[in-house]
Amino acid sequence: MVSLPFQGHINPFLKLAKRLISKGVHVTIATTENARHRLPKMPNSQSSEIHLEFFSDGLSFDFDRSDQNSLINSLYTKGSKNLSTLITNLTKAQEFSCMIVNPFVPWAIDVANEHGIPCAMLWIQASAVFSIYYRYFKNTGDDFQNLEDPNEKVQLPGLPTFKVRDLPTLMLPSSPDHFKRLLMHLYQSLDKVKWVFGTSFYEAEEEIVKSMVSLTPIYPIGPLVSPFLLGETETNVFSVDLWNAEYSCIEWLDNKPNSSVIYVSFGSLIVLSNKNIENIATALKNSNKPFLWVLNPGAENKEGGADELAFEILKETKGRGLVVKWCQQERVLMHPSVACFVSHCGWNSTLETLVAGVPVIACPEWTDQPTNAVLVSNVFKTGVNAKSEEHGVINAQELQRCIWEVMDGPNAEEIKNRAMEMKDLARKALQEGGSSDKHINQFIHDMIIHNL
Ligand code: UDP
Repeated sequence: MVSLPFQGHINPFLKLAKRLISKGVHVTIATTENARHRLPKMPNSQSSEIHLEFFSDGLSFDFDRSDQNSLINSLYTKGSKNLSTLITNLTKAQEFSCMIVNPFVPWAIDVANEHGIPCAMLWIQASAVFSIYYRYFKNTGDDFQNLEDPNEKVQLPGLPTFKVRDLPTLMLPSSPDHFKRLLMHLYQSLDKVKWVFGTSFYEAEEEIVKSMVSLTPIYPIGPLVSPFLLGETETNVFSVDLWNAEYSCIEWLDNKPNSSVIYVSFGSLIVLSNKNIENIATALKNSNKPFLWVLNPGAENKEGGADELAFEILKETKGRGLVVKWCQQERVLMHPSVACFVSHCGWNSTLETLVAGVPVIACPEWTDQPTNAVLVSNVFKTGVNAKSEEHGVINAQELQRCIWEVMDGPNAEEIKNRAMEMKDLARKALQEGGSSDKHINQFIHDMIIHNL
């Protein structure tokens, strides 16, 4: 497997590795050298279960990798050569039946081909996003009349009607070219990919999966989430946390009534503006409900003082809320005190809510999040999509209204029931004979045993 080391990228790969290993397959994961020190919980390369290898992305250790253009360029020119050298060295001692690549390193498909290794891809976002990009980057793009108008309607097979503003932002005119070039390269290389896996499960995205069958089929094999969410006890070995979690929040949740707490997190990458922090704090304050808010260490914005601002406003809630820098989200979502999740709708978080049966209030910002928010509100029907003048701008009143809608409004019970239904379907998909389990078995049979 080849993946970038971002939290939302490497974790699904680790989870797929775990599934394959449980079925007797040997797995090597290659990721970039700069992440070596950040993967402390993973077994080392001596482990009998998983073999971990590193290659350089071509940038110095202290290079600021948030400069995505430079990172992507360096991966293309130097990273791909380094991966190829690594594979040359590894194949002296072993033969690979298949290389499963991260879609955001499309050049790895070419490396697999150079070495004569059959290639598969783990699509780490919603199958819906795979399908939308397909119609734009692989087809002629005729499905999209006017991407300049955010309110223009979009009607695509397998999806409800939605608006241009809800498309994944990386395909919109406002998105930088380097992402578009990367996605174009990926979709033009799809013919060299024999299997595309999705990280969700068939029952969640049935219509979308069906709509791709005659194009490039996508096989959901998830939900690829922490084993803890699935009731398994082994959690550490196959997951990576970028920051140390604050365990105190679990004790804090223990002392709250069932289904009473609003959980708030915008993931590992979003940097909230002071205005958004203020608006979230106002909505939480006015909701009169207990809340747990993750304001992560990466969230310090350029304006400065975000933490102080939040703490200052929250003082007024008189201990009703807790603000932490990072938590074990899967434990929080599974906690009986948690009633709903105010989320940016990163794909991992979205999958985790499905498995935990937690209703969502979607406040998306960019990339696939606006599309995931539509899935939550209109396809899964496990939450509501907070209206905003533009994505990433949070309105205090609207957020407060959404909290009410999901917790106390006339639709609250239906949303909760639907979330519980998805929770059940998610588990069944992974069980022996379930839809995801069948796809994995089919893959092992085709790719590994028969080397198709
Ligand atoms: N997460 C966590 N603790 C937190 C906040 C987030 O463990 O306090 C995890 C969360 O469970 C998810 C990942 O971080 O697995 C975030 O991934 P996602 O795709 O939702 O968003 P991204 O961070 O990529 O924007």
